[in-house]
Amino acid sequence: MVCLVVRAGGSQVFPHWKQLFANLMPELEVREWDDPTLDPKQVDYALVWQPEPGRLAAMPNLRAILSVAAGVDHVTCDPTWSRAIPLIRMGEEETRVQMADYVLWAVLSLMRDAARWQEGQGQGVWVRRERRPALSSSTQVGVMGLGSLGGYVARRLVAAGFPVAGWARTPRQIEGVVCYAGQDGLAAFVASSHILVCLLPETDETRGLITYDVLSRLRQPSGLVNVARGSLVVEADLLRALEDKSLHGAVLDVFEHEPLPQTSPLWHAPRTLITPHIASEASRPARARQVAATIRALERGEEVPLRYDPQHGY
Ligand code: NAP
Repeated sequence: MVCLVVRAGGSQVFPHWKQLFANLMPELEVREWDDPTLDPKQVDYALVWQPEPGRLAAMPNLRAILSVAAGVDHVTCDPTWSRAIPLIRMGEEETRVQMADYVLWAVLSLMRDAARWQEGQGQGVWVRRERRPALSSSTQVGVMGLGSLGGYVARRLVAAGFPVAGWARTPRQIEGVVCYAGQDGLAAFVASSHILVCLLPETDETRGLITYDVLSRLRQPSGLVNVARGSLVVEADLLRALEDKSLHGAVLDVFEHEPLPQTSPLWHAPRTLITPHIASEASRPARARQVAATIRALERGEEVPLRYDPQHGY
């Protein structure tokens, strides 16, 4: 019998995982991570969030590690993590739809200056507009990262009537999206976009990529939506661009330090909406469906999507 060990959400939610897998894949043996009777040699697959360093390496027959989240840094930070074992990210349909819904909300909020209304409401002040709102048909959205999430988000933006540009490491083709690639394509991509939506992974190449220079080269009125990782944006540059109005507004869901410390100046940055890393989080049943489909495909010897590539770091 194929055995899956689960460390995701604690022992209170383990019975729910067990029940979900019993319905989806009755032939799977599902064991709890902290079960003292678990023999590490028995484990074929591990579904994890922040496993204690060394525990996965002690499972000699492990065939794949499934991250319960889209990010995998909680696994790769373990110095004993083996690059030879496939590591699969979470990112099924529900994750994509939630992300696209959030990005649409964020882009429309920037276009309509929603942060100003929020401020006015907090003070009981009737805030009329400073400028005529831009139209979706004349607001170009630039999606940085055209992977599992960025590619889907770009398509949803096209369907909503926005002109859309996209940027990735390698050349991509998405209907209705003007695609740019690599460092050579970055300047033209940025100069063509009003609102930048960041959906890049965090790697050595992307950390600190969004600087004052990038933000101030966007078309006006400009905006930033960061739903990827806080470290991709240079925080001091973002604050400077918002202060001097070279960036008109921002919607931020991710931060270098989370939860965002109470002392962070970002809380009080002008024309900025802050959300607590909630852009996209799939339900447990949706995650269980992806895990079951992944295990089935791996058992048949097939390639699976969303496999982490240690060479490129995403
Ligand atoms: P993904 O499938 O790995 O896609 C990454 C994309 O970024 C690919 O298009 C890739 O280019 C591009 N890329 C990577 N390095 C690049 C570079 N140096 N220059 C240009 N493009 C580069 O990632 P994903 O699953 O869509 O996730 C995107 C981000 O969303 C991640 O940071 C993830 O942590 C975050 N996320 C956030 C939330 C939330 O709630 N806020 C939820 C889920 C995920 P190629 O196409 O050429 O490979």
